[in-house]
Amino acid sequence: MAGKIVIDTERCKGCGLCVVVCPKKSIVISKESNKNGYFPAQKTDGDCIGCAQCAIICPEGIIQVCRDQMERIRIVAAPEKHSASHLIEEKA
Ligand code: SF4
Ligand code: SF4
Repeated sequence: MAGKIVIDTERCKGCGLCVVVCPKKSIVISKESNKNGYFPAQKTDGDCIGCAQCAIICPEGIIQVCRDQMERIRIVAAPEKHSASHLIEEKA
């Protein structure tokens, strides 16, 4: 199963929680800071499986996860303004 994430890097605080929980090492901390002076998370070319653990643990709620399933992409977790991410659809 293939996954894809989008990180709102300008709102990232660089806490690194998403890096720690990713089972595929698909996220690293950038060497370049964002406009707020934080070193944000960034996705790598790693083998994201769309497990959504990164989005769920992110305290800023700024990671969106899509999962490729049966040739269609669906969002499994997405940030909500001013709140942490929640699961929109349970894992298959
Ligand atoms: S969805 Fe899962 S595999 Fe993909 S980057 Fe997030 S934690 Fe890693
Ligand atoms: S968990 Fe969220 S705030 Fe922390 S580094 Fe990852 S994207 Fe940034």
